[in-house]
Amino acid sequence: MAAYDFNAPRLFIDSPLQSGTRIALDRAQANYLLNVLRLKAGEALLVFNGKDGEWRAEISVEGRKTADLICMERIRDQGANPDLVYAFAPLKHARLDYMVQKAVEMGAGVLQPVITRRTQSARVNLERMRSNAIEAAEQCGILSIPEVRAEESLENFLGSLGSERLLVFCDEDAPVSNPVRALTEFGNKKQSLAVLVGPEGGFTDQERALVAAREKCIRVSLGPRILRADTAAVAALTVVQSVLGDWH
Ligand code: SAH
Repeated sequence: MAAYDFNAPRLFIDSPLQSGTRIALDRAQANYLLNVLRLKAGEALLVFNGKDGEWRAEISVEGRKTADLICMERIRDQGANPDLVYAFAPLKHARLDYMVQKAVEMGAGVLQPVITRRTQSARVNLERMRSNAIEAAEQCGILSIPEVRAEESLENFLGSLGSERLLVFCDEDAPVSNPVRALTEFGNKKQSLAVLVGPEGGFTDQERALVAAREKCIRVSLGPRILRADTAAVAALTVVQSVLGDWH
């Protein structure tokens, strides 16, 4: 990756960005810059909005609790947004926060909560998911903000997943076999991908049959041990991104 200043603070700004744009920060953003990072008027940071690329911005006004930024020049162009769909049975708070952040860091472009029979928390706080996704993007130099979709039943998720997209089904009951080899058999041709990870209680046999009925689906084992769902997220996305995704 080109030399990139990972130390520069980055802030997601939910408004259009172009040279000369003046950005009034909300209190939380101003507090982060002025009191946490202790930036001063004239100092610079990076801002992005998920559409207009990444810009260098300078602090122009510095009150005790307010700050304005001026957008100076574009540092990086937007480029294509990641296309990988990360589908998962929502977990309880802290584990879900962690799983969402890791999925974004690992390149998920869509976060799709899927309600399965053993899902512990059927109510999903989409706003909380989105703020976790934004935080991960800010911290990891990511330019786009993944799409956070409303929860779907497993049936509806499978029904709405385009037939061309390869679904990588992480099945804790799959016989242990090398997932890298299993995915490599799908060749290196560019293809749209989805990854599915189940709840802490695992998939039921009916759900397993439902997923396996999908034409473009590969059932993978993530080794001989049962991983917690948030661990499985990282393991699965590592394998998928390194064999078929954007890690090569
Ligand atoms: N019954 C176990 C399974 C839950 S693991 C339990 O209650 O702990 C949560 C999810 O992580 C699974 O549904 C699966 O998607 C994934 N997973 C965990 N370990 C796995 C493995 N060894 N192989 C494939 N997927 C796994």
